[in-house]
Amino acid sequence: MKVAALLLAIALAAPQTVEARFKPSTSSDAFARDQEIQIGQQVAAETNKKLPLLPDSDPITKYVQQLGAKLVVHAPGEKWPYTFHVINQKETNAFAIPGGPICINLGTIQAADNEAQLAGVISHETSHIVLRHGTRAATKQMEAQLPLQILGALIGGSGILAQLTLMGISFGVGSYFLHNSRQSENEADLMGTDIMYDTEYDPRQMAEFFRKLEAQGNAGIQFLSDHPNPGNRVQSVNNEVATLPPKHLVENTPEFKRVKQLAMARHPLTAEQIEEGQGVAPGQSTVAISGSIPAPNGDLQTLSNIAFEIGYPSNWKVYGDPSSSVTIAPDGGVAQNAVAYGVIIDDFQPETNLSLDAATHQLITNLRQSNPGLRTVGSDESIRVNGVPGRSQEMIGTSPIKQGNQALQERDWLVTTQRADGIVIYLVFIAPEKDFSKLRPTFEQMLRSFKEK
Ligand SMILES: [Zn+2]
Repeated sequence: MKVAALLLAIALAAPQTVEARFKPSTSSDAFARDQEIQIGQQVAAETNKKLPLLPDSDPITKYVQQLGAKLVVHAPGEKWPYTFHVINQKETNAFAIPGGPICINLGTIQAADNEAQLAGVISHETSHIVLRHGTRAATKQMEAQLPLQILGALIGGSGILAQLTLMGISFGVGSYFLHNSRQSENEADLMGTDIMYDTEYDPRQMAEFFRKLEAQGNAGIQFLSDHPNPGNRVQSVNNEVATLPPKHLVENTPEFKRVKQLAMARHPLTAEQIEEGQGVAPGQSTVAISGSIPAPNGDLQTLSNIAFEIGYPSNWKVYGDPSSSVTIAPDGGVAQNAVAYGVIIDDFQPETNLSLDAATHQLITNLRQSNPGLRTVGSDESIRVNGVPGRSQEMIGTSPIKQGNQALQERDWLVTTQRADGIVIYLVFIAPEKDFSKLRPTFEQMLRSFKEK
């Protein structure tokens, strides 16, 4: 009895000494730690060529490096060789390269109200590195494409780097793997909360910064495309904070105020100016597509038919009978009767009275029967489409576009919603893998404008 009582006493005392910390999910990673660091260094060097980084001697970069160094001391798990870079770019954005490099746009510092908000961005990006979200997402794609025994043979070997190129997987600027899933976002928010708390910054400022970007619309569009809201972002950060004992947390410092003044006096380049500087023709500058299609126009026009309404770039065209299946594509986007770039909107009658989830799986099975090369990547996710419940599933397939006699790899993003009568309305956003992330903000803008009638 006495022993039991003692154990109980210890158990009761435990919550006061052991603070709750976020426990991340796990999934396989085909990349060894050293490979990941090596890839990160290659990508960082490439980033340095493509984007205007401020020199390490710049007082703004020095400040970000000091702030970053203070935060990563509290990053849990394996220690990565973190480096911090400031890009002389106006749009609010930040991204984490696997293995350690973290890049922050100068516009993000201009947009932050206090040091805790900037610390929030850095803690969030640090968490993507700790959780290895980039290489784990790439692993999922490789698992979808390669037989397991081949993948197994690649793990830990040097063959993986060559294989990445063959499969069109890159972690470079604007690549698909810098775009995070909603689950990854939620994990980075929660781990970021813990890192901030341990460094004595108020984590609620991280959620506040994301909320502010959402309220700003276009200014934060790239940031929110790379770091989509997993849903109830503010609430889930607050819940995580509530698991931690109250203590003094910092919002702002005199150093931040000084650096913010420095940043506000600068005139960072826009994405457009950066691409012009690289010899991309003006007009194509917001999205440089490597194929033969023109960049989408930013201003949307509306297609409205009996079933739905959707906005689309004003230089894209509507194909098909607007009362049934509709394709919206740019000039050159439809090749050999197949869509290489654009979106297909159609409906699907599930066999029986199925939930949206089950009906979506049935639809995917049907789509795969007519496109044998089509594979799903990762699992489907719940999303909101203009306030209506939807499912989102990424797939890879074969593009109708060929380079030499080799067909390009294609990415297909399927989004489904369900009408009251059970019929599923679905959209498939399509582009070759190498161009998908450039078109993603346009696709997301279209999806946000989509309304069933
Ligand atoms: Zn993120």
